[in-house]
Amino acid sequence: MPATSLADFISTNMDLILKEWEAFAADILAKSQSDPEAARDHARGILINIAADIEREQTPQEQAEKSKGRGPSSETPSQAGLHGASRLSSGFNVMEEVSEFRALRASVLRLWNEANPTTTQGALSELVRFNEAIDQALAESVASYSLEKDRYARIFDKLLSSSPDLNYILDLEGRFIYANKALLKLSGVSLNEISGKKFADLWGMAATEFQQHLHQAIESRVTYRGDLPHRHPDGKEVSYEYLLVPVLDMQGQVEAIAGSARDMTERKRLESDFAREKLLSDTIIESAPGAFFMIDQQNRLVKWNHYLCLETGLSDDQLRSATILDAIHPDDRELAAAKFLTAFATGYARMEVRVNTPQHGIRYFLKSARRFHMEGVPYVAGFCFDVTNRKQSERALVKEKVFSDALIESMPGAFYVINREGSFFRWNNYLNRLTGLSNNALRQQPVLLIIHKEDQPLAAQTMKNAFENGYAQSVLRVLTHDRGVRLFFMTARRFQVGMETYLVGVGTDTTEWLARMKHLEHEAWTDPLTKTANRGHFMQMAEQEFARCRRYGHPISVWMLDIDHFKTVNDTYGHQSGDLVLKSLVSTSQQTLRDWDILGRMGGEEFAVLLPETESQKAIQVAERLRQTVATTRTPLESGQSVGITISIGIATAQDEDVDLATLLARADKALYEAKRSGRDKVCLAEQHILLH
Ligand code: GH3
Ligand code: MG
Ligand code: MG
Repeated sequence: MPATSLADFISTNMDLILKEWEAFAADILAKSQSDPEAARDHARGILINIAADIEREQTPQEQAEKSKGRGPSSETPSQAGLHGASRLSSGFNVMEEVSEFRALRASVLRLWNEANPTTTQGALSELVRFNEAIDQALAESVASYSLEKDRYARIFDKLLSSSPDLNYILDLEGRFIYANKALLKLSGVSLNEISGKKFADLWGMAATEFQQHLHQAIESRVTYRGDLPHRHPDGKEVSYEYLLVPVLDMQGQVEAIAGSARDMTERKRLESDFAREKLLSDTIIESAPGAFFMIDQQNRLVKWNHYLCLETGLSDDQLRSATILDAIHPDDRELAAAKFLTAFATGYARMEVRVNTPQHGIRYFLKSARRFHMEGVPYVAGFCFDVTNRKQSERALVKEKVFSDALIESMPGAFYVINREGSFFRWNNYLNRLTGLSNNALRQQPVLLIIHKEDQPLAAQTMKNAFENGYAQSVLRVLTHDRGVRLFFMTARRFQVGMETYLVGVGTDTTEWLARMKHLEHEAWTDPLTKTANRGHFMQMAEQEFARCRRYGHPISVWMLDIDHFKTVNDTYGHQSGDLVLKSLVSTSQQTLRDWDILGRMGGEEFAVLLPETESQKAIQVAERLRQTVATTRTPLESGQSVGITISIGIATAQDEDVDLATLLARADKALYEAKRSGRDKVCLAEQHILLH
């Protein structure tokens, strides 16, 4: 008998045995995913059970059962059974499980033999019982293992069948070993029917290609991922993405191919929609006539277009690690940073900042920045447009406007632009001052309303002509702010801006000018003292009348008239009194003469009169009447005195030899000389020398 029983030996040397077992089973345990402590506790549990089993009294029947590896039936799972299930979940296969138990057996026996070199009968029977106990534990463990395996198989089948994906296991030739519910449903065959068939047998699909991929997975022992377009019997086009996963046996050889196929039609559609959307947005971004940028809250660039590279001279790589502020002139960065903050806070901001461009130096850019969210994260995106040219032309435009305003305001008259509707489109302040109308009133009422009623038809015609012919002008009466009327010389020139046609013109106030012209005209024609026609004007008018009468053969007569001894008047009463006498004579003459007779001062105190349609007798008659009137009229002087004069008149009536006015006048002059010579205060008719008084 050994000093201690095997059961006691196991109990007392438990740690030593377990250590030995761990060394034996090191290879197998290395595969275990459970922690070594727990594995050792399992083994310890099994050994304690075995020790208790060896010690226990057993009936001969029990002994017979145990020798067949069957323990007493029990409601609760044995330690060995638990061990088996645990090993399975740790990824052990049955062989490994068996090896583990053999290691346990070997560890106990080696240590026991070491402690008991001589084997006694008692020890032998204990060893027999130990071996039986180990066998039973192993049997329980393996039974539990296969039970667990069945359970797993059922669970996995359930799991795989509940998936909408097609799950399958194929043998190395590509024949079905397993197909889940979805796959069976799709193929319309039962599990029994499907086994041994190939994909190509079920659906006439690209069989060779699939077989190639299958072989590829088997050869490489690496999962193969592929696409499989497929047309369903109902005509629906679907696209499957499938996996071929090599299943390796213990020797690392491929024993089967597990796989799944997923209907990717919808996802593919989404992907292609997404790809199209992305292409579209990329195209838009790239084709923008300015730089595009998208930044995160740290102002880091997330997305941009090529224009931003051109604008900043920075490469894509440089921009990737840059902030948007790096793309802005240093002096404007503070402003830009504030604006981007505003954009993140309020949703939008706009800024005009300078950028130091590599090609064109400092340029002005207008940047817009709008906030948006992507998966809950705020970003700001925007475009930058080069506004340098626009700024310059705006400045030029402002300058141009200042110039043109200055120009039209400095005009010495009214400036106006008139549109097709006949309304003022633009004007200067002169027009406001002239008419007393506000800008609104001028804008709203027709141009014609500032024109005198009688001139409105002419004004309308002038505008019409200008629109038709390009230019027109007229003199029009304009109604003034003080209810007066002023005469304006108005021009209208047609011009076109885009599709619109306008008239532009200036109105010059000619009221004073015309008066002055009239005055000048009068001066040129009249004698300033007596206000009668001067010599030149008389001659001009007389020439016309002479020519007319001669042409029609009508009679015409002229007088030459001279004051008698006028020198004496001047000498006696003074030169001014002489002037008064001259005026008085003219006045008396005009009263005596007819409206159509023409009186002119030929010089000094000598006058001429042209009497159209007048025979000699009539001429003498009128002259005689004047002579008598003058002779009986006294001119009152400022001094209170009065002066009386007489006149002499020479008359000539046109005869055939009087080819021109000068000849006729010469004959009248001659008659006057005759009147003087013969005593003065007389009327003489030329040629006839008839003395009437
Ligand atoms: P007769 O009867 O021969 O004509 O004598 P008379 O004195 O009129 O002759 P004469 O022609 O020599 O003199 C004309 C004078 O008329 C000379 C000049 O002083 C005067 N006279 C000429 N024009 C004016 C004028 O505009 N005003 C005044 N007060 N005197 C004038
Ligand atoms: Mg005289
Ligand atoms: Mg005289």
